[in-house]
Amino acid sequence: MTKTAPDFPGQTITVELGRDSYPIYVGSQILPQFGGFFVHHCGRRRVVVVTDDNVGPLYGQSVIQTLNSVDIRADMITVKAGEPSKRMSVVEAIYDQLFDFSIERSDAIVALGGGVVGDLAGFVAATFKRGVSFVQLPTSLLAMVDSSIGGKTGINHPRGKNMIGAFYQPKLVFADTSVLKTLPPRELGCGLAETVKHAIIRDGVFFEHLEKYADEIMDLQPELMVDLVVRNCRIKAEVVSADERESGLRGILNFGHTIGHTLETVLADHDYHHGEAVAMGMVAASRLAVQRDIFEDRQAARILKLLGRFNLPTVADKPLPPDQLYEAMKHDKKVQDGKIKFVLPTSLGDCTFVSDLTESAIKAAIRQL
Ligand code: NAD
Repeated sequence: MTKTAPDFPGQTITVELGRDSYPIYVGSQILPQFGGFFVHHCGRRRVVVVTDDNVGPLYGQSVIQTLNSVDIRADMITVKAGEPSKRMSVVEAIYDQLFDFSIERSDAIVALGGGVVGDLAGFVAATFKRGVSFVQLPTSLLAMVDSSIGGKTGINHPRGKNMIGAFYQPKLVFADTSVLKTLPPRELGCGLAETVKHAIIRDGVFFEHLEKYADEIMDLQPELMVDLVVRNCRIKAEVVSADERESGLRGILNFGHTIGHTLETVLADHDYHHGEAVAMGMVAASRLAVQRDIFEDRQAARILKLLGRFNLPTVADKPLPPDQLYEAMKHDKKVQDGKIKFVLPTSLGDCTFVSDLTESAIKAAIRQL
């Protein structure tokens, strides 16, 4: 391993997890420098890049080239883009290709893509030959601000989303925000939903910043995008460092997810993407907080307005089935001792856990969407 880190024209955040600590590099137009940083953190080991069939054709060769430029042999495995790839048959197909490439335990897997590729490749890395080194090259905004940080990896099961998985931390995360220019606008919105979430639960100043620069952010102004990813990473890194295995504080990251997850999984005909479902979940949760008298109505209105400026849904496209959604919520991972656990905002920048909301209050909040 080389001793000194290459010069970096961006910003670095560290996820503090003792021996498993790792850096997140964020910058614009930094992808060609990835090889040098890989060698610095992982040594000169063989790499398999796992990507999807949208991202691979756009950025796959650049990643292979930057690795080859530092004398690293790199092969690529491409899966079909989209959530259905997060399943066991795809994991097995990747294992087969890793055997075909004669990948050893000392080699590394690099995830190049959005949260789907990150979760899937991370799970493969955690389990193949009991664990090979893992690196995240997030390319969607959601992956840069959320899913590439914190070590949650996994796939879906017919009984539920993300039900099979492992905590497995990457050796480094390397986020080049310039790749966001090819991200479909709807996917940009999904990353912005998680961004709004981070601001509401942890950083009121960041919330005001988002209100002030919403238009420039939608235009992907380069400096603002680096800054936005960095601020998100700081919040997520801080929460994950305090509670890696989600035994307490990390649960605040589920703000908007209690109802959001259910909307996403139960309502196949509505076709909400993850971030869109989370946006609706945040609207419902902020209304529940207002009803409980722990959050001001005008603050809930600011959340609604900001989500709208990021083109995120705040009302359902057709009536929602409260009974069906409530039943599904009772079987989610966030249920503890039979109680549905909500994260509710107490101000713009702070939140609390609530587990005693009544069935009728929860169903009413769903009906209001
Ligand atoms: P995704 O990976 O499906 O990416 C969205 C779409 O954008 C895909 O079609 C992808 O091919 C495309 N894409 C990505 N980057 C692109 C780019 N730069 N240019 C062009 N196209 C690009 O979805 P996502 O929103 O990134 O992630 C959602 C997944 O993340 C879900 O499975 C969710 O469960 C998971 N997730 C995990 C965590 C975690 O902590 N592990 C947290 C949040 C979400």
